[in-house]
Amino acid sequence: MKLAIMGAMPEEIAPILERVGDYKVTKRAGNSYYECSFGGHELVIAYSKIGKVFSALTAATMIESFGAQKMLFSGVAGAISKDLSVGDLIIATRLCQHDLDITAFGHPHGFVPEGAQFIDTDDSLKDVALQVAKEMDIVLKEGVIATGDQFVADPVRKRFIEETFNADALEMEGASVAVVCDALDIPVFILRAISDAADMDASFDFDAFLDSSAKVSADFIMKMVEKIA
Ligand code: SAH
Repeated sequence: MKLAIMGAMPEEIAPILERVGDYKVTKRAGNSYYECSFGGHELVIAYSKIGKVFSALTAATMIESFGAQKMLFSGVAGAISKDLSVGDLIIATRLCQHDLDITAFGHPHGFVPEGAQFIDTDDSLKDVALQVAKEMDIVLKEGVIATGDQFVADPVRKRFIEETFNADALEMEGASVAVVCDALDIPVFILRAISDAADMDASFDFDAFLDSSAKVSADFIMKMVEKIA
């Protein structure tokens, strides 16, 4: 099985590259792709750069050019749910694009014709995650993750996203990766460790906790890789 492991920023894949040891680097479409074997699988690893466009491009390239058969995303996010503190993990049950807006035509937020307001993630990958969490004695939250091309550091925007989508966390790549995987029929799994609370202090907390939270997420993903059949 060839698995894609993706992050948005270098910090999100650095702990993964450290863990796998030797890899081959290929440049494609303005990005670097790292291939290796690990845990009985072939892996292709990359960080996309921040946001929906770059993450969609990287996800599509991993699938179409590198032959990835399942997609695992590891990274950090801002918390919406009060259950989530810095360093906590959340897996997406489904994802939406909070900044996609043609409501002027009577459509719901996050929806365009022939698209869907929410994209579901893969049940069997979520089951693997729940098994890993149990073994590691970690509380793993499941919930809606909202994606948009904005760093949210504003309680008003945060409340809008919570109320409109019933979202538990927000970030800038998950939904675009999920849309690509859905279109190409590839199971997708999105994991995030909390780096901030998407409020006034978000940019300060983000810088302080990026490395530690990115590592929490990356370590969890690598445990999952060893368990995927
Ligand atoms: N500090 C970086 C920018 C980080 S953007 C720089 O200067 O280059 C935030 C990244 O972390 C995105 O990849 C996003 O997916 C995630 N993220 C974490 N907290 C977020 C928040 N509050 N709002 C939006 N994205 C967030």
